[in-house]
Amino acid sequence: MGVPETRPWLDRYETGQPADLDVERSTMTDLWHDSVRRAPDRDAIRYFDAAITVSELDDMADALAVALGERGVSRGGRVAVYLQNVPQFVITLLAVWKLGAVAVSVNPMNKHRELFTLLTDSGATTLVCLEGLYDTARDVVGETEVRLVITTSELEYQTRDDPRAFGEARRGTPEGAEDMSELIEHGRGRAPRPVDVDPDDVAILTYTSGTTGPPKGAMNTHRNVAFNAHTYQRWCHVGEDDVVLGVAPLFHITGLIGHIAVALLNPCPLVLTHRFDTGVVAEAVAEHRASFTIGSITVFIALMNSSEVRSEQMSTLTRIYSGGAPIPPSTVQRFRERFGHYVHNFYGLTETNSPALGVPFGSHAPVDPRSGALSVGVPIYNTIARIVDDEGAELPVGEVGEIVTSGPQVVPGYWGNPEETARAMPRGRLHTGDVGYMDDDGWFYLVDRKKDQINASGYKVWPREVEDVLYEHPAVREAAVVGAVDPYRGETVRAFVSLRDDHHADQAELIEFCEQRMAAYKYPREVLVLDELPKTMTGKILRRELRSHQSGERERL
Ligand code: AMP
Repeated sequence: MGVPETRPWLDRYETGQPADLDVERSTMTDLWHDSVRRAPDRDAIRYFDAAITVSELDDMADALAVALGERGVSRGGRVAVYLQNVPQFVITLLAVWKLGAVAVSVNPMNKHRELFTLLTDSGATTLVCLEGLYDTARDVVGETEVRLVITTSELEYQTRDDPRAFGEARRGTPEGAEDMSELIEHGRGRAPRPVDVDPDDVAILTYTSGTTGPPKGAMNTHRNVAFNAHTYQRWCHVGEDDVVLGVAPLFHITGLIGHIAVALLNPCPLVLTHRFDTGVVAEAVAEHRASFTIGSITVFIALMNSSEVRSEQMSTLTRIYSGGAPIPPSTVQRFRERFGHYVHNFYGLTETNSPALGVPFGSHAPVDPRSGALSVGVPIYNTIARIVDDEGAELPVGEVGEIVTSGPQVVPGYWGNPEETARAMPRGRLHTGDVGYMDDDGWFYLVDRKKDQINASGYKVWPREVEDVLYEHPAVREAAVVGAVDPYRGETVRAFVSLRDDHHADQAELIEFCEQRMAAYKYPREVLVLDELPKTMTGKILRRELRSHQSGERERL
């Protein structure tokens, strides 16, 4: 079988760009201003009992942009956004874009060292954070270029109708920081001077370990973001009558594009719930008649297994996509039996601004009878995906190799990192580090990852980062971290260590040591202490052997 001359799915699924879709010159700012003109009174955000209309959101973003501009934020400047799924995330993003500045998206689970790395790498001069996260921020900002810290309360919009509850429960603006709502009040009624934003300007920096260790800032341009916002609109059929349910974290590319960007583009309401809780989410779906969502498969497994969720509450949520982690075919089946809706697979990376491949809405992904794997889909609009060997040569249908992809959603590179850019995306073709194959009909399947990255519920953990922390423990001589199969998270983090002579440390102590120093999804849930770590002749730790190592074997403690 040779390399296919044509792409059969083009005819079948109409994945070529729709003729009327022209995003070549779009910026998110233009698209948003168009939404404001078309539907100012529609709800843009719903958060518990609060609803913010399109025009209210625009006014708040204008006011915040004025304040940021007065404090020196300008085109190309970096503003770190260290927030959970709260309305302020969207307000900040729009304010930053109105100034032609760049939002640096920071995982709110990040602890000191992780936050420090992102702030220094991006050169952010402003940090917007929740009051609850300020303690972490305060310890590191002084050592970075951050000169302006803006805090905001988790309760700001939750208690909108009850100012007393807000006042009583609030922590208050910390010394040295400014309060976001005061800045918005101060700028109210004014708008920043319009900035000529270019589609190739960076809209967001999203940090990813990519296919190699240290975090790198993927430069998501306005063109990239706008393109995939349209993908959600067209491919997943998310229109102005829809209500988007935000279950993915907003800081991650899935939430940024699959929740915020598509909702701003339509415009249509985005329902936020701050933290993921099955009962709260089901209630929000029922109350707001949410109709579209995308999240990691663990979210859908949790909803399916929750006794707090009633099937009728989920009846309007008919368009469901899952990305970021493998989906067991049986889960799709069980979800359908429980709620009556099909979970569509979406495949992409931070570097592809969410999807590169996907299951077209309304079709069902095939399951390969040989491997039992569910297909991750076909290339989306104007996207080329190929399977290549180690030398980059294209492989025939059915053969296993690395997935490489190019298209309008692929980032132009990593922030300030031409070496990694050249390595990961030579000539604009992204080497995904995922190993898979394509079948005769053009459906793609994943079989493995080339990269050592661990995928815990869609959160990516790079072993080196965890190992670096373990090496800081005085008793640790060697450390190696691998992914272990976990029935709920897909994979979990397992560490192996050997100890220095005359030193002692047990599993609980080492786990706690890591837990205090890194985001909750990263610290190892298991630390196995071995006399020696298995190595190659040249002294390289044999990760493959460690991966197949069963928990409980050869432990010294
Ligand atoms: P991130 O940059 O965090 O979005 O992670 C991207 C990685 O997530 C990919 O390289 C894959 O390893 C994995 N991934 C994304 N989508 C899927 C999917 N639908 N099925 C399996 N793995 C996926």
